[in-house]
Amino acid sequence: MGEVNMEELLNCALCPNICRCECPVLQVSGREAVAPSGKARLAAMLQQNQLNWDEQVLEAVSNCLGCRGCTIYCPFAELSLCDELLNTRLTARASGVKLAVTDPYISNLRSYGSPYGQKNWSSAAGEKGAEVLYFAGCTSQANHPSAVESARNLLDKAGLSFQMIEEDCCGYPAEVWGDQELARQLAAENRRKIIESGASTLVTNCPECWLTFTNRYPLWGEELPLEVIDGPTYFLKLMKNGYLKPGKSKFKKVSYHDPCIWARAAKKVDQPREILSLIPGLSVEEPLSYGECTRCCGGGSMFQLSFPEKAAAVAKRRLGEFPDQATILTACPFCREGLLQEGRQVFELIELLDSVCE
Ligand code: SF4
Ligand code: SF4
Repeated sequence: MGEVNMEELLNCALCPNICRCECPVLQVSGREAVAPSGKARLAAMLQQNQLNWDEQVLEAVSNCLGCRGCTIYCPFAELSLCDELLNTRLTARASGVKLAVTDPYISNLRSYGSPYGQKNWSSAAGEKGAEVLYFAGCTSQANHPSAVESARNLLDKAGLSFQMIEEDCCGYPAEVWGDQELARQLAAENRRKIIESGASTLVTNCPECWLTFTNRYPLWGEELPLEVIDGPTYFLKLMKNGYLKPGKSKFKKVSYHDPCIWARAAKKVDQPREILSLIPGLSVEEPLSYGECTRCCGGGSMFQLSFPEKAAAVAKRRLGEFPDQATILTACPFCREGLLQEGRQVFELIELLDSVCE
């Protein structure tokens, strides 16, 4: 378990809270308890035994999307409030407190290796022993199999041999819901299968899987002994090296939604735009907030399962920032799911790329 950093937490708890206008959960709920500094105060009081865990307190400190929106204006460069809140939540289980709403999903993870229940898919595909391993992630597999199909099509079109393994959830949802023991079990199982595959490069289009493999697995003692590459960087490289040759798009005007993790944790804001710039005839218009200042779609921290109404309200707020007629593109299964409302057309970048490449 990561240690709670009291100094950082107190900085945040006592801060004038300038970031409050960027925190999507505060914006849609209007509850001061879930403002960044409000959550930090609760976490600091829990840490100093001035407050005891109960379900209400856990609900408040769970009201964080992990979007890092608060970092945009935060004066404390080292502070990652969402990580401090996550570390704080991990101490709740020791006190026997958990959010009832997450029980069925935790139980699904234990029984099926997916928060979405029994898998109706088999992710194993491609050529055993291939150097490139494509890891789709359980959210794409369960909710958006056509994006998985597009990734496979593109690798075929590029003439590359690749493999996919029988994936389990990367473990991130279990940690976000406070069960790090289960997260580590899932990580160990994935790591075993990844090593057995013999691949030297792992590519994923799921930002949470990417962050989990690169940042969380080492913390859990499950570091992966291969290169992990994010989808936008990998597919851009295939285009630049002539493996993928895009033709004209059927969409005229598109607008790209930067997923929070790609934009603020991985700093991958140029690669998706470069991909779009290489597709002939496409006009790209930015939403109101973009790049590293993007705003969350509501899908962070598994909110679509644990707080679905709040997730939908955050997505609706974000949708208001896009030009009316533009087709929305993104590079994350949670963002695509969240933004797909209000009659908007939303696709993953990988689907657009598949549709324009021969
Ligand atoms: S996240 Fe940063 S800006 Fe926001 S309340 Fe905490 S310390 Fe202040
Ligand atoms: S990470 Fe996002 S949801 Fe969490 S406190 Fe910061 S702005 Fe709010």
